[in-house]
Amino acid sequence: MVQRIVIVGGGAAGLALASKLGRKFGKNPLIDISLIDKNTVHIWKPKLHEVAVGVIDQSIEGLQYRDHGLKNGYRYIRGAIEQCDPSTKTIQLAPVFNDEGEMIIAARNIEYDTLVLALGGVSNSFNTPGAEKHCIFLDSLDSANLFHHKLMDALLQLNETQDQLGIGIVGAGATGVELAAELHHVIESVREYGYQNISKDHLDINLIEASTKILPQLPEQVSTRAQTVLSKLGVKLHLGVQVKEVTKEGFVTATGETIKANIKVWAAGVKGPKVFENFTQLPVTPRNQIDVDDCMRVKGIDDIYALGDCAQLILPSGKPVPPRAQAAAQMADRLYANICLKMKQQPEKPFVYKDYGSLVSLSRFSAVGNLMGSLRSGDFFVEGHVARLMYISLYQRHLASLYGWFSASVYRIAQKLLRWQRPKLKLH
Ligand SMILES: Cc1cc2nc3c(=O)[nH]c(=O)nc-3n(C[C@H](O)[C@H](O)[C@H](O)COP(=O)(O)OP(=O)(O)OC[C@H]3O[C@@H](n4cnc5c(N)ncnc54)[C@H](O)[C@@H]3O)c2cc1C
Repeated sequence: MVQRIVIVGGGAAGLALASKLGRKFGKNPLIDISLIDKNTVHIWKPKLHEVAVGVIDQSIEGLQYRDHGLKNGYRYIRGAIEQCDPSTKTIQLAPVFNDEGEMIIAARNIEYDTLVLALGGVSNSFNTPGAEKHCIFLDSLDSANLFHHKLMDALLQLNETQDQLGIGIVGAGATGVELAAELHHVIESVREYGYQNISKDHLDINLIEASTKILPQLPEQVSTRAQTVLSKLGVKLHLGVQVKEVTKEGFVTATGETIKANIKVWAAGVKGPKVFENFTQLPVTPRNQIDVDDCMRVKGIDDIYALGDCAQLILPSGKPVPPRAQAAAQMADRLYANICLKMKQQPEKPFVYKDYGSLVSLSRFSAVGNLMGSLRSGDFFVEGHVARLMYISLYQRHLASLYGWFSASVYRIAQKLLRWQRPKLKLH
């Protein structure tokens, strides 16, 4: 009897899991591994701000699921999950439409023996009026591409009018901070491409944060340093500011002030995907995440697991596993090991989260962060080129989980060489 393992969501967690399982069991005729994703291409989510400003090009740096699956022992299925029925062990995928809006694949049912949900998270607007209508939520490849198109059009116009381009970002977590820093450096690059009339003075970047400091989840020293760097770059910081409405003009704050912005980004908060509202037979939390036990098993259901940002796993400390790439990767490793144990009829082991610290990129040349543990006790502060190299090594680790260390290194060298030939910026 063939065992069907179906993984939905090919991001930091799901793709790493599918790759490991595929490499281990891909040639076993009794184990069938499928990875379902609504996109055809994977970009590591912490790189989305680079897609948004055009520093990386998804058509070159993106991993194509179908090709990767062929080489790594799993089958890729294109589609978006819209229903899950544990009583019949079936999920339903929505129809697939082409760019003209014509249906090219009808809705389908897919049966599983083991189901893994790894759909990631989305930004949380906390029902702020106007946010959905006027903001770009930088939480998917589509939204990063949308931002990129808007930015390129705005810069083209700015070069003619020499007016001011206001960009407002709500949320000074890693996403907001990294985007603000990257935007500043984009101006230098576009000038090299003939946008001579634009200077940094034409860009008005506003970073709005409800907390009284940026990077509120990180140690004081990290946020203070990042704050200094952003201020030097000319990013305006609005700290302790609550946005109560978003309009076409900009962000209306609780004190009634309007922070004007032509391009508005919402990068605050994380919640589970909306589609989970349809999963009435699964335990879904108020933040739309799937409630799982310490082995990532959906509470009360034996054959369904959830991991990464879409899952709520409460640690022994009482805190949930944070929505971070390192947590998603660690969860994928544990679930892979547990699926192997289960096949050998051995008990699964609980997930143990290890916080290695956090690194925040401040564009191509610098980063800032704290590292935990292994080099000395407690955490310590890193910044500049060293932090940047460490930040790059995180991506290298992700690639290694997808390709293996040797191929990942070859891939990175090839990418570096290609960069000499390619434009510094994706300009359209
Ligand atoms: C701009 C940005 C910067 C970040 N920077 C950092 C950082 O510096 N450090 C850090 O630790 N973390 C960072 N994060 C958070 C980190 O990226 C996430 O915690 C991590 O990617 C979560 O992994 P995941 O596998 O759970 O979800 P994801 O990586 O989001 O993957 C989810 C996958 O599910 C697919 N999917 C979604 N819905 C459906 C559906 N209905 N049907 C089928 N497929 C679906 C998506 O296409 C995607 O491929 C950042 C996030 C963002 C948005």
